[in-house]
Amino acid sequence: MSKFSRRQFLYTASTTAASTVLLNACTSLNPPAPNQPQTTASPAVNVGGGEGPEITTARLGYIPIFEATPIIVAKVKGFFEKYGMTDVQVVKQASWGALRDNVIIGSKGGGLDAAQFQMPMPYLLNEGLITANKEKIPMYVLLQTSTQGNGIAIAGKHSGKNVHLDLSQAKSYFTQLKGNKKPFTAAYTFPGANQELWIRYWLAAGGINPDTDVTLIAVPPPQTVANMKTGTMDGFSTGDPWPYRIVQENIGFMGALTAQIWKAHPEEYFAARADWADQYPKATKALLKGLMEAQQWCDDPANRDEALQILSGREYFNLAADILAPPMKGQYNMGDGQPAINDFNMGPLFWKDSKGSVSYPYKSHDTWFLTENIRWGMLPPDTDVKGWIERVNREDIWREAATEAGIASADIPTETTRGIETFFDGVTFDANDPMAYLKSLKIKKVAL
Ligand code: CA
Repeated sequence: MSKFSRRQFLYTASTTAASTVLLNACTSLNPPAPNQPQTTASPAVNVGGGEGPEITTARLGYIPIFEATPIIVAKVKGFFEKYGMTDVQVVKQASWGALRDNVIIGSKGGGLDAAQFQMPMPYLLNEGLITANKEKIPMYVLLQTSTQGNGIAIAGKHSGKNVHLDLSQAKSYFTQLKGNKKPFTAAYTFPGANQELWIRYWLAAGGINPDTDVTLIAVPPPQTVANMKTGTMDGFSTGDPWPYRIVQENIGFMGALTAQIWKAHPEEYFAARADWADQYPKATKALLKGLMEAQQWCDDPANRDEALQILSGREYFNLAADILAPPMKGQYNMGDGQPAINDFNMGPLFWKDSKGSVSYPYKSHDTWFLTENIRWGMLPPDTDVKGWIERVNREDIWREAATEAGIASADIPTETTRGIETFFDGVTFDANDPMAYLKSLKIKKVAL
């Protein structure tokens, strides 16, 4: 098997999801919230953009983590209906692998037209790298659903070892674990996507090589809680509200928040099958308008409690709202002697953050995700990053939808790059020169 096909095998073989774990772990512990808020749909009106959408239905997939909030809120609060999409179905997915498979099938086969995505999953679908028989499923990245709101949880047995944001203080401890043939074992949710990339970035920034100093695994859903409790799994990278559960149940503590690793970082996205978006361009924009309205609504602190009630519903997260509340409001008990964080702007944000727009899908961020895949040998160094992004990132559709929806021009970025990004360890990334970034990194798999 060639190196390339082996890599494809790795991508397709492992499809577990933390969210499934979250769901499995928590549904048995918490009764469903009793009062699911009723849909508050306003009558469909034509808000900009001429005549109504070509179709009023769409099937949208989501994973029950905070990143899905705008999709669920747009449905429940009637924001899709407002823009003429009167029969949108939001469909909970059991895992990232299941979500991928349902997008491959499409709604004609009972699957999905569009979904929430980790990066660079839409690109890997587009290129046929995570599909059976390398089938290419053309995709459009249309909107970013959220920033921040993710973290790396650490098993309690590693307390007092400085397994915190700056891992350089814990390097000798990691070396010791490896020497004792019990290397630190950390789990993520889908190969090559956000959660694996965050944990790899964090380890490497502390001088720990994620490929040789630790063991990284995809999480088998039914075993995660038990693994974390018994300490056979040492760390776990995932979206909120999961990290808070780890602390609350005294299973462990927070190693780092992604908001600490990279403030206002890109997180998850809304992407559609290109054939669906091409066939129904007005419906596509109507979905984006509904999502944008939901994102603005979600970022009003006065609405967060209602958002929590919506998410806690049986057909959505099926978790008590008081469990979801602290991380939704940026309140993190970090544990292991670290100061608690209580800052709305360190939690998940949906419309605006300290760097500007959350909703707008910056091409420079897609460039980072693809570059990071190259860094770790998940994509070859000669990947046509620019060409891929030209075909898949449709920030132009976001821009059109925003303009038609009457979004203030100050909230519509004028550039497709957000500028030079700076990580917590001082490393910088300029999307105009990804090679300089790769060269600057001390720990990487790619040979340059
Ligand atoms: Ca995430």
